[in-house]
Amino acid sequence: MTFNKDVVEAIGNTPLIKLKRASELTGCTILGKAEFMNPGQSVKDRAGKWMILEAEKRGDLKPGGLIVESTAGNTGIGLAVVASARGYRTLIVIPETQSQEKKDMLRLNGAELIEVPALPFANPNNYQHVGRRLADQLRKTEPNGVLFADQWNNLDNAKAHYESTGPEIWEQTGGKVDGFISAVGTGGTLAGATRYLKEKNNNIVTACADPNGFAMYNWFKHGEAKSTPGDSITEGIGIGRVTPVIETAKVDTAFLIPDEEAIAVIYDLLQHEGLCLGGSSGINIAGAIRLAKELGPGKTIVTILCDSGGRYQSKLFNPDFMRSKNLPVPGWLEKKSDISV
Ligand code: PMP
Repeated sequence: MTFNKDVVEAIGNTPLIKLKRASELTGCTILGKAEFMNPGQSVKDRAGKWMILEAEKRGDLKPGGLIVESTAGNTGIGLAVVASARGYRTLIVIPETQSQEKKDMLRLNGAELIEVPALPFANPNNYQHVGRRLADQLRKTEPNGVLFADQWNNLDNAKAHYESTGPEIWEQTGGKVDGFISAVGTGGTLAGATRYLKEKNNNIVTACADPNGFAMYNWFKHGEAKSTPGDSITEGIGIGRVTPVIETAKVDTAFLIPDEEAIAVIYDLLQHEGLCLGGSSGINIAGAIRLAKELGPGKTIVTILCDSGGRYQSKLFNPDFMRSKNLPVPGWLEKKSDISV
């Protein structure tokens, strides 16, 4: 019999899926790591698992303890899944602008949710600061202690990808990987995976794909953490400053991807390849196509399919929402059946 002893053990070891049309377009082999197949359905299950298990090892989490985190949603879901399986509670601080689907999933997974207005990081009431303050406050009264997961500063977040995502990519490609690209939310994925892959083969070209309105494109391309103009409807990615996690990344180059380019990829994959992905995956795949064009035909490029499009039905796949953002809606999305019964 082969089985995982619990849901925590079932995190990771996700398949690599060939993205057919991106590969045909570029003459490269473009592969996506199917992180939406994790138990909590996103790449952030890995961070949740490592941040909890490493805290246990250090003695920072006691049975029945409370885990507090500021998150755009997916890290919270990852933490809640692992916390449920290991007997902890979770309290999540989330900007109210994040998708209803993620908030519902957090509640379903037993997390307590505090929604706060979406404010810039410089504002003391930005969700990241609220979460930290709340954790400090609760530490005084919680009988079993409080862990503030702190994904932007917690190096266990990147360790998850150094110890799992990176090695899995290396093994699944048999070491025949020429490029790796990922967007940045906290940078855990990019930092951990690039550090591992560069140690294995320093010739692998590593890249960051950044949506409009954030600082990682300029940071990795020009060494200056200056935000680009514009904005993005993608969730869970985009950061305006260099964090301790980002500092550990080994990145050669960067691509700035406008939403239109990422969304075209998302709709195309849904229509032609049966893959329903969230917006950050679109940024990643559009970035992989740009990297492939730079590297030339015959190369193998890996990127991350961060989460499922089902998490954004009310936004990315909602014609009214898309029109309100002046983004294109493909005709087939609104097509009604012309078969009558
Ligand atoms: N895509 C989505 C949908 C996410 O929620 C996140 C994490 N916030 C990421 C990508 C980026 O992951 P990381 O934090 O490892 O940079």
